[in-house]
Formats: sequence, structure tokens, C-alpha cells
Amino acid sequence: MMTRAFLLKALMKKTNHLISLNGFRSFSITNFSRCISTLILAEHENGCIKAQTVSTVVAANSLSESSSISLLLAGSGSSLQEAASQAASCHPSVSEVLVADSDKFEYPLAETWAKLVDFVRKQREYSHILACSSSFGKNVLPRVAAILDVSPVTDVVKILGSNEFIRPIYAGNALCTVRYTGPGPCILTIRTTSFPVTPVTADSESKKATISQIDLSDFKEDSDRKSRYVGQSVQDTERPDLGSARVVITGGRALKSVENFKMIEKLAEKLGGAVGATRAAVDAGYVPNDLQVGQTGKIVAPELYMAFGVSGAIQHIAGIKDSKVIVAVNKDSDAPIFQVADYGLVGDLFEVIPELMEKLPEKK
Ligand SMILES: Cc1cc2nc3c(=O)[nH]c(=O)nc-3n(C[C@H](O)[C@H](O)[C@H](O)COP(=O)(O)OP(=O)(O)OC[C@H]3O[C@@H](n4cnc5c(N)ncnc54)[C@H](O)[C@@H]3O)c2cc1C
Repeated sequence: MMTRAFLLKALMKKTNHLISLNGFRSFSITNFSRCISTLILAEHENGCIKAQTVSTVVAANSLSESSSISLLLAGSGSSLQEAASQAASCHPSVSEVLVADSDKFEYPLAETWAKLVDFVRKQREYSHILACSSSFGKNVLPRVAAILDVSPVTDVVKILGSNEFIRPIYAGNALCTVRYTGPGPCILTIRTTSFPVTPVTADSESKKATISQIDLSDFKEDSDRKSRYVGQSVQDTERPDLGSARVVITGGRALKSVENFKMIEKLAEKLGGAVGATRAAVDAGYVPNDLQVGQTGKIVAPELYMAFGVSGAIQHIAGIKDSKVIVAVNKDSDAPIFQVADYGLVGDLFEVIPELMEKLPEKK
């Protein structure tokens, strides 16, 4: 027979989350009153730090009033060094930029990057390890958590304290408060749309973090690694990135074909926005799946979100509800999308879009 204390200990080890049985809150192993020191796995592209990483810094900054924040950048070559230099002044709260420059990090292989995070963590004690809830962050951080035998807290939308977080559950229909009481570092993926970056003052702009190159001579990859990099196909488009665009134009199943979906693309082009799609439109093959918005696609929070022929299923709404203004066009006046829309138009998209195209001024 297991005693209650033994059972609690076993559960704590397994979940590292808040456990309260019969009002008996057990031991808190981690001492969060000590200075918070955070390692952020940064994402960069073409020599620039991604906006989502800066939002992750904003989140890290709210963990405690006195915290040190280190950004970890990996990759190889001159674009990595350019990104590191930009990262050093991306936010006044970044204290250090750690650079892992090696062709081992040329490709985003999660196993190798998880090993790198663990390698860096061993050299210095970090109380928190963060990444954005992007497909890359969601691929790497759970592996880091597995290496450390701790439970990650994913998709954090609000930070209540250094060990208390809010995250959505049930496709965003409920919010859950999680208290981390684990023995190891607290591992978080951040829903970056919930942590907007505010403009910094000219004074703080001049604050630059130190840049340190990581000595990788002792870094070893798994010899029996089970994945290998095959290739990457990048859409050649001038449209803004869906995850950070200020305007998003989305089409649903109602578009009916690849050809018709081009109407959405043209409207997005005219408004300087990104193109999104529902899962039904992706599954029907109208657009590639990296354009899917929703619970299992991208989470967006643009200033303007326009949905054409989208019913408004909860899994889709989960990805758009932080948008500032939602406009919906649907021929069914009872479509659930109208419950979340700021402006709704009951009409046929095949009539509304051409009319909009005609009335909107030409892009300069
Ligand atoms: C586990 C899980 C995860 C999921 N994740 C996602 C996700 O990430 N993203 C996502 O989008 N979905 C997701 N889904 C699917 C989701 O449940 C819906 O099936 C999907 O969002 C519906 O897409 P839709 O609105 O394009 O199609 P439909 O539901 O078929 O709606 C089409 C709408 O178009 C309207 N319409 C038809 N013709 C016209 C016209 N000519 N003019 C104007 N309006 C018209 C109709 O009235 C209708 O409201 C997920 C489902 C599950 C189970």
C-alpha cells in the first residue's frame, strides 16, 4: 500500500504541476525567491531576430522584477553573427546573447538543438527556459523537458508570477492556471500574440547586451540520431509572415477551388496582408497547410482579420480571437463566426470580394 505522501511525491515527480489533494498542498521543491535567470531559445532568419522572439523576451521580463535574460542563438556563418548583433539591442532587458556557431546547427533538427539547450544549461544555472510556441519551439522544448525529466508548461498566455502561469485548454474555451513546483528549471513555450512588444524609449534603445561565443568543443550530438535533414521548401512570396502580419485575409471551404482561392490572395495583396485558410480549405487542397489558422495551425492576432466563407468552428476561433478587429462575410446569418465578429456581412463572397476589389484604391 502506498502512503499519501509517497503517492504525492511520485505524482509531483511525474507532473511537476500544482497538486492539491484534500486541501493538502505538498512540498514546493524549487526556491523561486532566488534571482530569476532565464534562457530563451531565439529564432532568427536572414540575419534578423524574429518578432516572436522579442515577444518571448517581453514574457520573460514579466517573470520577476529582477531577472537576467540570456538569448541563445544557434546557426552558422555571417547571418548568425548579424542576428546576434541585432539581438543584443532587440530589447533593453536582454543581458546576454549566447552564440552557438557551428554547421551542426545549420538545419533545425530538434534533437540537436535540444542537446544544445541542455549543454548551455549545464554551464550555468537557469531557473527558466523559454521559447515561442512556434512549430520550432514546440518541437525543441518538449525534448529539452524530456532530457531534464520535467514537465513543460506550454502555450502560456499570461504570467502571474515566476512559477504561476495561465494557458488555454479545450481549444481555448477555458483557461487553466498552472503552478510549477518542479525541481528542475521551469520550461515554458510562450504564445507570443499575448505578449505584444511596446516601443522602447530612445534611452533604452542604446542599451546593448554582451555577446559571447559558446565554446562547443565538448558538444556532442547523438551518434544514433533518428532524424536527418531532408530539405526545406520556402514559399517565394512578398506577402508578410502570417504569424506577425497586421492584416490577415482568410478563406474557407466556401471558396470551392484553388482557382477561386486566388481571389483571397489578390485581396490580401491589395491590403498588404497575409493569406490564411481554414483547415477545411487546406484539407481540400486549395492552399498549403502552412496557411492554416487555428488550434492546429497558426495563432494570429492582427489588427484586421477578414474571414470569407468561414463558419467559425471553435478550433478556428481559437487561433483568431486575439485579433483587434474581426470582419466576417458569410451567406448564412446563423454562422457562429458572427458571434465573434466586430463587423459582419451576410452575403455571397463571390459578389462581395469583386466589389471590394473594385472599391479599394490601387496599391501604391
Ligand atoms: C482536433 C481538430 C483540430 C482542428 N483544427 C483546426 C484549425 O486549426 N483551423 C481550422 O480552421 N479548423 C480546424 N478544425 C476543423 C474545424 O472544426 C472546422 O471543420 C473548419 O474550421 C471548417 O472550415 P470552414 O469554415 O472553411 O468550412 P465550413 O464549416 O464548411 O464552413 C463554410 C462556411 O462558408 C459559408 N459559405 C458557403 N458558401 C458561401 C458563399 N458563397 N459566400 C459566403 N459564405 C459562404 C457557409 O455558410 C459556411 O458557414 C479542427 C478540427 C478538429 C477536430
